[in-house]
Amino acid sequence: MPPKLIFRVHAVRRMFVRSITAAEVRIVIEQGETIERYPGDTPYPSRLLLGYARGRALHVVVADNGGADETIVVTVYQPEPALWQPGFRREAAAMKCVVCKQGETRPGKATVVLQRKGATVAINDVPARVCANCGEEYVDEQVAERVLAAAEASARAGVKVEIRDYVAA
Ligand SMILES: [Zn+2]
Repeated sequence: MPPKLIFRVHAVRRMFVRSITAAEVRIVIEQGETIERYPGDTPYPSRLLLGYARGRALHVVVADNGGADETIVVTVYQPEPALWQPGFRREAAAMKCVVCKQGETRPGKATVVLQRKGATVAINDVPARVCANCGEEYVDEQVAERVLAAAEASARAGVKVEIRDYVAA
């Protein structure tokens, strides 16, 4: 019997940004491949699934509430090629943080705030490598170009304050 799905509203927000349907998430959960398990997660064990819908790779993080036969959809995203090895099953090779010199970076998201005289542009959900130790954030070249171009366009349009979501290529 297929599990009942409970969507965290954050997941629904991420789905809306990328036009991902609930039916596509169900396909990933029912037919996808579990690529990482987090059995120690509380209050329920969770896992990361990889699946394909309409030709695009999707990662879905779920927590399994076995007692209630419910699966909680924690987040849904399209894996960023820069942060994963080809095939989207394994994270890109770990990188040491050059700021704290202790931590290793993990795939994550950053809010990048760019400012110059009179203009402030905040870009949410920018794919980044985030230091697990100190939280320092790093972006790759293509992402840097995109956030700079977006902020440049806003600044030239005379925007004073803007908050926008990152749009991938
Ligand atoms: Zn660090």
